Amino acid sequence: MGGPVTLTDTFGRVHRDLRISLTDRCSLRCTYCMPAEGVPWLQKDSLLTTEEIVRVARVAVEAGVSTLRLTGGEPLLRPDVVDVVSRLSTLIGPDGPPEISLTTNALALPRLAQPLVEAGLTRVNISLDTLRQDRFVALTRRDRLDDTLAGIDAAVGARLAPVKINTVVMRGRNDDEIVDLAEFAAERGLHLRFIEQMPLDAGHTWDRGTMVEAEEILAALTSRWELTEMPGRGADPAQTWLLDGGPTTIGVIASVTRPFCGACDRIRLTADGQLRACLFARTETDVLSVLRSGASDAEIDAAIRRCLLGKKAGHDIDDPGFLQPSRPMSAIGG
Ligand code: SAM
Ligand code: SF4
Repeated sequence: MGGPVTLTDTFGRVHRDLRISLTDRCSLRCTYCMPAEGVPWLQKDSLLTTEEIVRVARVAVEAGVSTLRLTGGEPLLRPDVVDVVSRLSTLIGPDGPPEISLTTNALALPRLAQPLVEAGLTRVNISLDTLRQDRFVALTRRDRLDDTLAGIDAAVGARLAPVKINTVVMRGRNDDEIVDLAEFAAERGLHLRFIEQMPLDAGHTWDRGTMVEAEEILAALTSRWELTEMPGRGADPAQTWLLDGGPTTIGVIASVTRPFCGACDRIRLTADGQLRACLFARTETDVLSVLRSGASDAEIDAAIRRCLLGKKAGHDIDDPGFLQPSRPMSAIGG
């Protein structure tokens, strides 16, 4: 292919993590992500085929990507998700096969956890924002808390350890459950990460003024445990602490108040074949058209590098001139 075996942007950041959105559809309607109704779904003929996804992933892996994360929308709604994992698991990069992980609402894990592991899935991140049934219904607009909890058990049972749990903290909605959720995770050996809510909701209702900040999350945890920060964060978006000396760890993803853009190694592929250098990017690189014009692998590689050339130093959420991207999170791939 000729290019160096790293995907480097103009700030010298080496990109090793490709997040692939398998669909923009979802079985929940989390308020911070999707509207209750009237979601403008992506056009069916613009969705990447499995062949096309695997091809872009192969070129990226050959260029140095070492982690493939499947996301959405809800990735487990893609009917051939097990086949996608199995085909991705045959790829080989300069440092060997990539790690394949999945971010999911877990509803389909009781049925799919074991087949996914057998296909080559190595890790899973599960979203859980509350342990209370009434709140779960209010936050996701679906009565599925029991299914989510069963999905978490299925992931643990399928030995997808460590199972990570993602919790978006919202003022007045679940910010009084920080300790309860951390205890729930500690009892089950789960790695919980609290996430600051980001301006990515379809309804554009995010409010910086009322957002729950990392400081508040840490204060709630400190009221119950002694926190010891873990070293060696690398490109991990989560800053991690030991609770009372360990072994339980708690992470905080403070995208807004403690941005980690300087170490970002992520690039995203949407379900309709657009490459995005950042969640908050306002431009995309159309690899769908490149693929469907009969392009060579070298041209796909060039499209990935072109996308990275436009990557900015940071997302500037705290800048007064910040503009929310027009795609909601569910159509970008979280
Ligand atoms: N459906 C899957 C799930 O919920 O895990 C995968 C896609 S979801 C978009 C990926 C992650 O993004 C989830 O952990 C979700 O909580 C998070 N997320 C969605 N909207 C967000 C927002 N506005 N701010 C922060 N995190 C968000
Ligand atoms: Fe669906 Fe995940 Fe968005 Fe919730 S956060 S609506 S589960 S895509």
